[in-house]
Amino acid sequence: MNSNAQTLWFIFHKDQLLLQKSNNTFYIPSGVYPPITVPEMATVHEITTFDGNPCKAFSLPEAIEESEAMTMVGLRASYDLLPVQYYQIAGKAREILHWDRSNRFCSACGTALEQIEPIMKRCPNCAQEVYPAISTAILVLVRKGDSILLVHARNFKGTFNSLVAGFLETGETLEECVAREVKEETGLDVTNISYFGNQSWPYPSGLMVGFIADYAGGEIQLQEEELSSGEFYTRDNLPELPRKLSLARKMIDWWIEEKAGYEVYTQHYCKRTI
Ligand SMILES: [Zn+2]
Repeated sequence: MNSNAQTLWFIFHKDQLLLQKSNNTFYIPSGVYPPITVPEMATVHEITTFDGNPCKAFSLPEAIEESEAMTMVGLRASYDLLPVQYYQIAGKAREILHWDRSNRFCSACGTALEQIEPIMKRCPNCAQEVYPAISTAILVLVRKGDSILLVHARNFKGTFNSLVAGFLETGETLEECVAREVKEETGLDVTNISYFGNQSWPYPSGLMVGFIADYAGGEIQLQEEELSSGEFYTRDNLPELPRKLSLARKMIDWWIEEKAGYEVYTQHYCKRTI
């Protein structure tokens, strides 16, 4: 930690992040002290360090009022306003705050938990330790000739179409999850399931793992409770796509740009993101 270290303050109300603004540029507040008083009951969490500067987070019980100098924006929207590293730290901060709020008591004995480490709480009665849980979900880009499968899920926040996705179940491998989700949601069989990349998804605490697969058989039969549409689209006939921040969009963009095979996409993706 350098001697001139300035704390970066990630301050949330629910999923709304406090930003300072000046001349249409947005900043994460920094300084020895936060830009607003820490509420009495709030815990200040240590999230990480960035360029030698500590990054801390706390929650507000209510949103602040918009002013000349400060505003609050949704975490998703902050992706368009901040350098990507700050968006990623904000995502981690949001996950820690969500974990803190939803793990106040021991699930075994009901005693109030005590925070021991930045990402560990312990029960003072039975010593059970609690860490932030990450929900793993898969995304799959299914190819059929010169087209890909895109769906609209009823829980999407918008009218865009995206890739088939679903949560990993207990006892399942990621590849089994890919095959099961495609079958359950669309009735299709897939083959050649291969890894593409992954992304932390702090809405509220997920890890998205992306796969490419090829169509192997079946007719589309949508799972109506989850999907309102699903069909194969060619490059010249694409519907509205998800926003740039998502792994799904990176995978679709890769497919739009690349017509080559597995080796090329792995190298291409790694080069862009690591
Ligand atoms: Zn306990």
